[in-house]
Amino acid sequence: MSESTTRPLLRVKDLSVQFTLQRGLFGRKPRIVRAVDGVSLSIQRGKTLGVVGESGCGKSTLGRAILRLIPAGGGSVSFDGCDIFALGRNEMRHMRRRMQIIFQDPASSLNPRMNIETIVGEALMLHGLVNTRRQRQTRVVELLARVGLSSDAISRYPHEFSGGQRQRIVIARALSLEPEFIVCDEPVSALDVSIQAQILNLLADLRDEFGLTYLFIAHDLAVVEHFSDEVAVMYLGRFVEHASADELYRNPRHPYTQALLAAVPIPDPSAAKRAAPLAGEVPSPIDPPTGCAFHPRCPLAEDRCREERPSLQSHSTLKRDHLVACHFADRIPPGALVELTTPAATPS
Ligand code: SF4
Repeated sequence: MSESTTRPLLRVKDLSVQFTLQRGLFGRKPRIVRAVDGVSLSIQRGKTLGVVGESGCGKSTLGRAILRLIPAGGGSVSFDGCDIFALGRNEMRHMRRRMQIIFQDPASSLNPRMNIETIVGEALMLHGLVNTRRQRQTRVVELLARVGLSSDAISRYPHEFSGGQRQRIVIARALSLEPEFIVCDEPVSALDVSIQAQILNLLADLRDEFGLTYLFIAHDLAVVEHFSDEVAVMYLGRFVEHASADELYRNPRHPYTQALLAAVPIPDPSAAKRAAPLAGEVPSPIDPPTGCAFHPRCPLAEDRCREERPSLQSHSTLKRDHLVACHFADRIPPGALVELTTPAATPS
């Protein structure tokens, strides 16, 4: 087997993204916000890595930094063996054909003054994939058909479509350059639940048909469960748990992962023990907690947690590729948080 077929399509090493806040009152020093703090990952061609966490944990920033839509503060991103941070402007323009993004809100990612032919076909002309208007129309109709829209959509405008249809248009636009890798940045979170399943099925079909590789960002573990080969849970700019999807759902060890799983809606809440919802919000990255960043919200925290930051690593009682950033991952059972925080049953 050649190296190009065995190496990951995407390899990210120690990626960090920092923002500098303006100098404050009284000449205080500018402050550094670490939105992404030393994240490493790799994705094999045709596979999906789900990245899950609450709003503000840095997952969208991670996706944009990988695509060089925002500057990284450190680390490296290798795509098909190519260091994309070392590429010049022209080389990056060619690379963009291979790496696309689907944003959360289709309404704001489509120009309301452009018709669908222009929106979906614009990049085809820019990259020289078609030469005439006629060729562009033909290709746009093919792309629309592939995402489940009829040819008469071509002359209409974004406001004439429902949310789900608009997201199909966004997907058609992303497909127009025949990419190999797509960052799906919460692509269904702005949609009704019934529509979410249709869009997820469409993305899964496209992955299988074209061998696409996804980084799939979501705030809800339920969304990525049947969609991802691996899942990484992110908290305050860092991965706190990373495992195959089967392993992570069957054997979650980080208390934050357990809390996110406990928050997944289940059809019959009385049939299973549920943990109380996670208290508080993600702390501000401007002034992160000492030690383990999760300790102010963790019901299992001990003194060590407040002083020493746990690194993302394997543990003796877990599979080798199951990584957890918790000092006590070996001794915390998968249901620990549920046992600790299940609200007492109310007498009937
Ligand atoms: Fe909780 Fe401590 Fe583990 Fe952090 S290191 S998740 S505070 S038990």
